[in-house]
Amino acid sequence: MKIFALFGNPTGHSLSPLMHNAAYSKMGIDARYVAFCVDDIESAVGGIRGLNICGVSITIPFKSAVMKCLDAVDDSALKIGAVNTIVNRDGILTGHNTDWLGLSIALKEHMKIEGNTFVILGAGGTARAAVYAVQKERGIPIILNRTVEKGGELAAEFGCDSYHMDNIENIRADCLINTTPVGMDPDTEKSPVKNDIISNFGCVVDVIYNPLRTKLLRNAEKAGCPVLSGLDMFVHQGAEQIKIWTGMEPPREYMKEVVLQRLKPGDKNGD
Ligand code: NAP
Repeated sequence: MKIFALFGNPTGHSLSPLMHNAAYSKMGIDARYVAFCVDDIESAVGGIRGLNICGVSITIPFKSAVMKCLDAVDDSALKIGAVNTIVNRDGILTGHNTDWLGLSIALKEHMKIEGNTFVILGAGGTARAAVYAVQKERGIPIILNRTVEKGGELAAEFGCDSYHMDNIENIRADCLINTTPVGMDPDTEKSPVKNDIISNFGCVVDVIYNPLRTKLLRNAEKAGCPVLSGLDMFVHQGAEQIKIWTGMEPPREYMKEVVLQRLKPGDKNGD
């Protein structure tokens, strides 16, 4: 049996074990995916070799810290500055980032990226993946962050514009992507932006998937704006991990359905 794992802290809330195990079962692969709440990432990475774990997902707060523990890191993960996937090939551990790819695939299923402008709210790890994804497909990212210095640093690194979040009312763009945790369960009545500016954007994307319809997305829907939740990104980033680990195409629609079933029925069907 092949063993795959999730390293993070905390991991109790994660839907990755459910999604991955469902996928392996459907694919007929004899494998288990297990979540570990990690205290010491360096020792945990040593355990990958010691226990012959085939692949590991990395989540908060270790996506950057884990990089120095690996034998190699691919170009995308290096540029983003975060690893969410480790593959173990004969004891050689290589880091990848599938967050940007998950977002890129999800976006491209719904809109053209090339030539369009994307306001990215936030300047953390997911914002970095979002900026990378947009630029990779020749879109134009604009960073808006609460801490203006952090947004400025990210913008300088990627060669794009950045502003303080309060300037959002002066900005129009084809798409707004929220990468802040504002609106995530249990703070489901919070939105990172005021309602009256939503119509300045052609569509609204939230990387949060719990709840599926965040306050931001509910407001956008009321304003007649097309919306996309973080569920598609979540499924595709996990599917891309499975592809790296097994070389096989995973059942993405089935994985999405399994996660949807677990999320609250109220989330699935509306208010
Ligand atoms: P992070 O590195 O901690 O960055 C969070 C960013 O949000 C920071 O720029 C921070 O601004 C901003 N922020 C936090 N609280 C805020 C508030 N109250 N008002 C305004 N801005 C605020 O976090 P992350 O790892 O990027 O994760 C962000 C979200 O993405 C989480 O909800 C996570 O679950 C989600 N995510 C989803 C997927 C998926 O597959 N769908 C994958 C990865 C992550 P400052 O710089 O001012 O502190």
